Amino acid sequence: MAFEFDLDNTEAVKVKSIENFKQQKPGEKARLSIISFRKMSDVIIDRKQKEAGRHFSDSEKAEIIAEADKKLAAKLNKSVSQLTEVDRLSLDNVRLMTERTHYKDGIGTIRCMSKFEGNNLSQQEICCQHLGEPSQKIGTIVMKYPVDKHGKVNQDLLRNREYIEFYVWAFSPKKFDQIRSKYAEAKGDDPPRSRIDLNVTLDGDPKYQKQLIEIASGTPFFLREDFPVDMRVWILDNGIRLFKHVSDSLGFSMKKDTLLEKLGLSSGSSYDDDKPTPQLNSASSYDDLIS
Ligand SMILES: [Zn+2]
Repeated sequence: MAFEFDLDNTEAVKVKSIENFKQQKPGEKARLSIISFRKMSDVIIDRKQKEAGRHFSDSEKAEIIAEADKKLAAKLNKSVSQLTEVDRLSLDNVRLMTERTHYKDGIGTIRCMSKFEGNNLSQQEICCQHLGEPSQKIGTIVMKYPVDKHGKVNQDLLRNREYIEFYVWAFSPKKFDQIRSKYAEAKGDDPPRSRIDLNVTLDGDPKYQKQLIEIASGTPFFLREDFPVDMRVWILDNGIRLFKHVSDSLGFSMKKDTLLEKLGLSSGSSYDDDKPTPQLNSASSYDDLIS
């Protein structure tokens, strides 16, 4: 579908500005920091909902957010209106995203179209009928540090914003478990650490991106006390801004029709999106509204 646009329409042309993190040579090392973090208020809401054993209404959530903002503003000596998105991050809680996907040669990785409630399938769609059970893919945003030839972080380059690379890091549940166990391990340190960097080494054929993942020593450089604040904000801002690319890396959203076509199955009229949906019986929909 062609359409006109002007240069203010930033959504019109999709710029693939961020690549997936991949290592090329067996034994290749990288020091990574996950730089996407959850909002403090979301972390609080999750915790309180868990304690209460129920989901909160929008107004209850708004109340918690307002309270969290007030406390944060007081702590930072700012007014609530001066708080930025970066101020509101919880640097102890990295942010990840997950999707259910199917993979097939010649089609690639596509998103599962079935509906789930928690981990239970509630409405099965053609993808699962023809491609079997979906697997999960998980992703986040990482920063790859500039290092010298011995693998040590080059702090001058880092502070000058040189050779810093940002990537989407997308992985299987197995790698997720590896990463989660490293964060859990660091929490057992004395004192407990929730802010860590990861040393990642490619183990074997680049095709499989199997990686040895270890906890790097010390606090992530950009979260250290003596690190320039403007640089820290720039990195955290990238973690927020680039997170929208994570979803794109977790499989292609294919239309049912297209999938049926690619599978060599005829697309029946029941999958025809262009057909007008039958009108709802007005009496019964009115009943739905008042019941
Ligand atoms: Zn599916």
